[in-house]
Amino acid sequence: MDGSGLPETRSTCPYCGVGCGVLLRPDGQGGMDVRGDPDHPANHARLCSKGSALAETIGLEHRLLAPRVDGRDCDWDSALQHVADRFSDTIARHGPDSVGFYVSGQLLTEDYYVANKLMKGFIGSANIDTNSRLCMASSVAGHKRAFGTDTVPGTYEDLDAADLVVLVGSNLAWCHPVLYQRLLAARKARGTRIVVIDPRRTATCDSADMHLALAPGSDVALFNRLLTTLYEGGALDAGYLRQTNGFDRAIETAFSDDARVTGLSPDRIEAFCELWMRTEKVVTIYSQGVNQSSSGSDKVNAILNCHLATGRIGKPGMGPLSVTGQPNAMGGREVGGLANMLACHLDLENPDHRAAVRSFWDAPQMPDAPGLKAVDMFRAVGDGRIKALWIIHTNPAVSMPEADAVRDAIAGCDFTVVSDITAATDTARLADVLLPATAWAEKEGTVTNSDRTISRQRSVLPAPGAARPDWAILAELGRRMGFDRAFDYASPAEIFREYATLSGIAGQFGRDFDISGLARMTDAAYAGLVPVRWPVTAMRAGGRFFADGGFFHADGKARFVPVSYRAPASKTGPRYPFRLNTGRLRDQWHTMTRTALSPRLAAHMPEPFIELHPEDAAAQGIAPADLVQVQSPHGRAILRARITDSVQPGQVFAPMHWTGETAPSARIDGLVAAETDPVSGQPESKASVVALSRF
Ligand code: SF4
Repeated sequence: MDGSGLPETRSTCPYCGVGCGVLLRPDGQGGMDVRGDPDHPANHARLCSKGSALAETIGLEHRLLAPRVDGRDCDWDSALQHVADRFSDTIARHGPDSVGFYVSGQLLTEDYYVANKLMKGFIGSANIDTNSRLCMASSVAGHKRAFGTDTVPGTYEDLDAADLVVLVGSNLAWCHPVLYQRLLAARKARGTRIVVIDPRRTATCDSADMHLALAPGSDVALFNRLLTTLYEGGALDAGYLRQTNGFDRAIETAFSDDARVTGLSPDRIEAFCELWMRTEKVVTIYSQGVNQSSSGSDKVNAILNCHLATGRIGKPGMGPLSVTGQPNAMGGREVGGLANMLACHLDLENPDHRAAVRSFWDAPQMPDAPGLKAVDMFRAVGDGRIKALWIIHTNPAVSMPEADAVRDAIAGCDFTVVSDITAATDTARLADVLLPATAWAEKEGTVTNSDRTISRQRSVLPAPGAARPDWAILAELGRRMGFDRAFDYASPAEIFREYATLSGIAGQFGRDFDISGLARMTDAAYAGLVPVRWPVTAMRAGGRFFADGGFFHADGKARFVPVSYRAPASKTGPRYPFRLNTGRLRDQWHTMTRTALSPRLAAHMPEPFIELHPEDAAAQGIAPADLVQVQSPHGRAILRARITDSVQPGQVFAPMHWTGETAPSARIDGLVAAETDPVSGQPESKASVVALSRF
């Protein structure tokens, strides 16, 4: 209860990976008040502009309220039987790898668990991937290479205790605003130094002590120089190095790299390296500027190498911290929502892990090799290898790189199902079957934020029309495909208990992800679950990883990964002389399905634009507010010019939110090349090449 006497319900914001707690008070007429939860450890009552506008975005104007088959509303029974028949028929005729699920970091953990179980254990394919592939797959790959598991060692409390916070490829002020507010509070309290490493001068730079505007994609060379500085400066932690393998090759490779590719002056590089070396309590936060790169995994390992070499990891105020874009990107990683992972951080390639999960699920089959990652999945849709596709809560016809080709691939797919809260997306318009799902504030489940804290999302509004929770839709499909017993779930609490029990088996294999302490929760305990950081076992809740080693490779040691600078995959040249960086705006979220409903949020930056440097604008004859044609090898967009020296000459920046529904000429991912990191499969969304001309 708050002071008004009306009941409030604790839930979690559905936007970014900070995972802020919210208190919801419905007004009984479809509306509600939203305020920050003072007791949630992620935000302590703070909310950003998006979170505080949530109540403005729950209208039913664009909601999908009934299943639709071939454009006609129908009942659930007909729609789901049609989907089950088409999927079963496709599998019978072409094999399990002829179908695919493309899901989303918007899914709750329980939804994710059921989708993953259905595809990997019962359909028998690993062709389930998620839009989180576009967000943080390189962090997953980097963690697994260094630690043996996808373990995030840092916590938000480390920001409060650090003396230096280095932000790499992260516009924290706009993309994770509450974490940024927390950092500014720490800076006020203890004088925390802030360094921003980003080719673009973003809002985050306003409060930075140092901004290193390095050349796009050159982060590996900068962190290799840091590693050699630490070595030459005698800053290595010899005791901690005994917990690791591979330092000699990593340092040898680092010495062979050339930091001049960063374009930074030697003085600036030295000042940064000296500051890092002389400050014990260092946190390195990294985000999409690191991950969305054809060398993203190497960038992550270049950062991890420096923390491992100095033992600055897993201790208060020290360590690397990857911040995720989506509300449940971490939950998706934990539950095996990526095509190359099993549930509970077990490995698809490991026969013992596969056998354990298969036995636990009593599954008829289990793939023994990774499925198609997002970019490859849509290529397989395009060339007909995937013939039946189910897309859940995401809009790949807009958000995938080479989006025009992806849109055409979906349009040409034999059978496409879309579950979403709205039919008004570019992707939904291409579907053969539309399934109405419940939205945030209408559904129950859990999410995991960027520092491993599991929180509840709770429903306070009735499901509109015929909308159903995703777990229920997926489970019903499983039953209709003949897997009755395995998908006979009555509630998300039941799914969560099964998942937590499976994590105990992962714990027996020595994996990091173990929440078996929650496996015996009653329904009432699940209903009242308070935020808790994993692991949660009978012996332990929360805590830190790696302060004294204890890594998850077979020998218990961490691995240094030798990495060298690689230039972005797309090359500039006379035809496409500019490098295109893409990213978020402060007040919009993904393809604007929800945030566009708030006039307050839409007013921040109401139309699509492109930022270009004054020298480039003059050379191209482009004046402020001119319309600019932006052409890449993959597509074309028309955008309003913003002329600013926040971008460097030869570079341009454009936000990625607008869609064919909201601004058909501004589908930015139509311009982006589908070049991927060879280890993680994550696309390089920040270094495509384009040409500009006045429109
Ligand atoms: Fe929501 Fe992220 Fe803002 Fe917190 S910082 S209120 S999770 S959008």
